[in-house]
Amino acid sequence: MFGLKADWSLEVFERYFTMGDYAGGEARWCPGCGDHAVLTAAQKVLRDEQQRPEMSVCVSGIGCSSRMPHYLGTFGFHGLHGRALPVACGIKARRPELDVWVATGDGDCFSIGTAHWIHALRYNMDMTLMVFDNAIYGLTKAQTSPTSPHGFKTNTHPFGAILEPHNPLTVTLGVTNVSFVAQVADWNPPLLYETLKAAYQHKGTGFVRIIQRCPVYADSFSKELQQNPDRFLLLQHQRGIPVDKSVSRQFPNRTEHDPSDLARAFQLAADSARLPLGLLYHNPDAQCYEDLSSQGVEMTPEKRLEGFNAVLDRITI
Ligand code: SF4
Repeated sequence: MFGLKADWSLEVFERYFTMGDYAGGEARWCPGCGDHAVLTAAQKVLRDEQQRPEMSVCVSGIGCSSRMPHYLGTFGFHGLHGRALPVACGIKARRPELDVWVATGDGDCFSIGTAHWIHALRYNMDMTLMVFDNAIYGLTKAQTSPTSPHGFKTNTHPFGAILEPHNPLTVTLGVTNVSFVAQVADWNPPLLYETLKAAYQHKGTGFVRIIQRCPVYADSFSKELQQNPDRFLLLQHQRGIPVDKSVSRQFPNRTEHDPSDLARAFQLAADSARLPLGLLYHNPDAQCYEDLSSQGVEMTPEKRLEGFNAVLDRITI
């Protein structure tokens, strides 16, 4: 093509993230563990939202599910038992531009981490809070957790758990400034994906209780639920979690529920005979702590030191 000017410029495509970009180390959860499904759903949400992996951070406490930061190809922080939320809040307070995910379990969040759970909900910082609830301490091999069913046999209660289980949904719904409360089961991938996506897209703390299979130490807990879809009540609404017909027909019990109706959300959450699945409560207008406390986030280290010294000068004798 002599005589014609060739265009040698390279076509540069915008960076596109695939599932592989969100893959971390090889997941070492037991075969059949529900945690695998949650990891995949979270990776799909990140991929579909084209969230930059280097702008996401996954924070966890201690427990089987808390190994998630190792398996997600984002930044991660594997923290102390029950302490995922204060770390996550700290990250969000100083780096509000980061996308924060929290992976915690029923033992981690609803027992040793209770104080952080309650206060983090009130702070309502923009993050996705996934509580993997398998009703047992799995990592330490089968101790009674706050959500173990009454009569459930464990190492610490060989004759069966003495108390009725804690209801994390009613507790969560009762916290001032709570903004997003949903429940889902790990063995329904479309519903799990849509619920995590809605929590991710919500501005505020997206609390998702994930009823999770632990086939090793709490098989009967999830098997009973898996075999009886009648134990669930699917929540449907135009402002709720979008549910395809192929999913909704799996549940014989369905109801219309407006997620802005807190009083009805309480009623639904309190019914232990029929567990609600979907979005119980959503308040998109709840205030986020980081929006109120962002003053000084942009300060340089020198400016901070200057301010710190000014405070010390005031109390110098
Ligand atoms: Fe999952 Fe249970 Fe194995 Fe832990 S012990 S990885 S929760 S199946």
